Amino acid sequence: MEINETQLGQVNNQIQRLIQSNNFYGHRLKEAGITGIHSADDFHALPFSEKQDLRSAYPLGLMAVPEEEIVRIHSSSGTTGTPVIIPYTAKDVDDWGEMFKRCYEFAGITNRDRIQITPGYGLWTAGIGFQNGAEKLGAMVIPMGPGNTNKQLQMMMDLQTSVLCATSSYALLLAEEIAARGIGNNIHLRKGVIGSERWGRKMRNRISRELGIELYDIYGLTEIYGPGIGISCRYDAGMHIWDDYLYLEIIDPETGDNVPDGTYGEIVITTLVKEGAPLIRYRTHDISRIIPGTCPCGSRYPRIDAIVGRSDDMMKIKGVNVFPKQIEEILGGFPQLSSEYQIRISHLDGRDTMRIYVETNGHEDFLETADEVAAAVKSRIGFTPLVKVVELGVLPRSEKKTKRVIDERYE
Ligand code: ZN
Repeated sequence: MEINETQLGQVNNQIQRLIQSNNFYGHRLKEAGITGIHSADDFHALPFSEKQDLRSAYPLGLMAVPEEEIVRIHSSSGTTGTPVIIPYTAKDVDDWGEMFKRCYEFAGITNRDRIQITPGYGLWTAGIGFQNGAEKLGAMVIPMGPGNTNKQLQMMMDLQTSVLCATSSYALLLAEEIAARGIGNNIHLRKGVIGSERWGRKMRNRISRELGIELYDIYGLTEIYGPGIGISCRYDAGMHIWDDYLYLEIIDPETGDNVPDGTYGEIVITTLVKEGAPLIRYRTHDISRIIPGTCPCGSRYPRIDAIVGRSDDMMKIKGVNVFPKQIEEILGGFPQLSSEYQIRISHLDGRDTMRIYVETNGHEDFLETADEVAAAVKSRIGFTPLVKVVELGVLPRSEKKTKRVIDERYE
């Protein structure tokens, strides 16, 4: 998915804005002597931006317009160190709302829907992002914010909420509560829009089945507007990304080079029209891939696959980038296996080898299952691992996070 002429022109405008503002990136451009770009090659020579750059700009160093044009800030959670503050102009807020409105439209949501918003409001981009888009659409917003499940369910019944916006874990909690209270008949949900959180097929299917709704995955991050920069469509074949607002690349996290469409790597995003805090080649550390070809829905917007992990989790085996989440998803398709597994990577006789240990759920057909798992990994990821099925309870369990990947190549 190469950058096109329109996008190149837009990046050029951003470069002028950044140089004028002399924020961290403008400064970096000046130092590199870059005053503009004229080709895709020029674009790929632009330096990356990192979360650390944004932290260093705390509190308002990212601002690329005069302060009187800034109407709002948002902040990403500062669980590790200094938070990041993103300033927005009125146009940024409006553009974000337009993108989010498009998300709802892709999900078949209309101004006849009643949208219950359960992500948090405040410094975060979550709740208010869902709300802006819904208001632009003309739908009825029920701005609940998180928690207070009793009240959530009461409003959901009384107002006949038709769309639930939530994290996957909260959607599951609500689904379980509805089942436990036997109030399913009083719930009128038809669709769910689920915020970008890593979640597996099994959980997704459970939420969808228990609530009897269609689910849509939404993508976004505070540094780049917030949620709503892309969403899956009714064919559930990846998330469409709004490339009139953003240019998205997939790079090899180690080399920084672009990888071919279809190959997994790190998502890097360039904002094309953002004013308050434009970002050029921002490394998200989210791992996905561009899905080649046209979506069955016919939309021209490019697609990325579900996020399979963070770049720090990546394993390189036989030249293929692999993420534990991909293996976990494959194993999740085998009902005869428990949820426990262990991956060991070693270097034997000049070759990388992946061994996967999985636990049976009490089934006896160890060898057959091992062959099936190996074949599934081969077909999904591209190489054949050694698979060993062991009895239930054999693999180590830990009260903290269980270490599932052991790379013996570097020990
Ligand atoms: Zn589609």
